[in-house]
Amino acid sequence: MGAGEFDLIARIRARAGTRDDIVLGIGDDAALLAPPPGRHLVVTADTLNDGVHFPHGTLPADLGWKALAVNLSDLASMGAEPAWCTLSLSLPQGDTAWIDGFLDGFLALAREHGIVLVGGDTTRGPLSVSVTAMGFVDAGRALRRDGARVGDDVWVTGTLGDAAGALALLERDPVGVLRLRLDRPTPRVEAGRALVGIATACVDVSDGLLADLGHIVSRSGVAAQVDVGALPVSEALRASFDEATRLAMQAGGGDDYELCFTAPPEARAGIDAVSLQFGLRITRIGRIMTGEGVHPLDADGRTWSPPRRGYDHFAAL
Ligand code: ADP
Ligand code: MG
Repeated sequence: MGAGEFDLIARIRARAGTRDDIVLGIGDDAALLAPPPGRHLVVTADTLNDGVHFPHGTLPADLGWKALAVNLSDLASMGAEPAWCTLSLSLPQGDTAWIDGFLDGFLALAREHGIVLVGGDTTRGPLSVSVTAMGFVDAGRALRRDGARVGDDVWVTGTLGDAAGALALLERDPVGVLRLRLDRPTPRVEAGRALVGIATACVDVSDGLLADLGHIVSRSGVAAQVDVGALPVSEALRASFDEATRLAMQAGGGDDYELCFTAPPEARAGIDAVSLQFGLRITRIGRIMTGEGVHPLDADGRTWSPPRRGYDHFAAL
């Protein structure tokens, strides 16, 4: 409870770790970092607000994990190698047990990916966590949204809709497999890096598959057909909902943090190899055509109408 800002920062600094390319980490007015020559710096930021991006009462360790995971997912979608991050915390009170729990989750995931915390900001206010993550990609090799070409296949990693299922079950089933997918998403960092040179375009699925694939097609000036029946589903989601409900979650639910990407048919063997290498399901779900928009089709090839396309914070409710 009453720990001051400097006590909290000292606790963070003591556990942050380091890397050779950090000249000066936490403790000065700013960090000094040495990016590798010849590579591009990839920078992304995401904020999680209490009750908006995570259920009120989420455990501090889960929140720490997720705050970093959503940013690592953005690096993954660019094909980047994670390096550094900053953490801006707004906390209702200076609670050292809360900070320690938060760091347990945050740093466990950071260690898995070799990303090191180099700075941030700590203030008092409603609970909110903002992370900036930085990484590297070879110049000209990043996976962007604007590279999809007519004739490409559309692919997605993992399974879809689990986090949306967990939200729907929050009261009924507060601690199932699905809840783990909501609280501890797995950013597909290794797969993203392995897809450099294979994928023509890539996006991470944070707002719902159809909405996020929509970003690829609009930036690339193409259209996409999606076979809704091919969308990958977990056993847990299949067991928890009727078909129409779970298809809506798979097509439009947010918070999956899987990668959706495009690649020419010649790349299929290479994609299977990536799938095998990382023990990660990668499913072909559609293809890129001329035109515009994302066109979901049912098993009979008829237009399938999604109840909603994805999560939009500013959409009229
Ligand atoms: P200033 O007032 O000059 O901005 P601060 O007192 O806010 O400095 O921060 C002191 C040091 O602690 C800086 O290196 C800053 O990056 C770091 N820091 C502050 N809050 C955090 C945090 N939540 N996570 C990581 N580093 C932090
Ligand atoms: Mg200063």
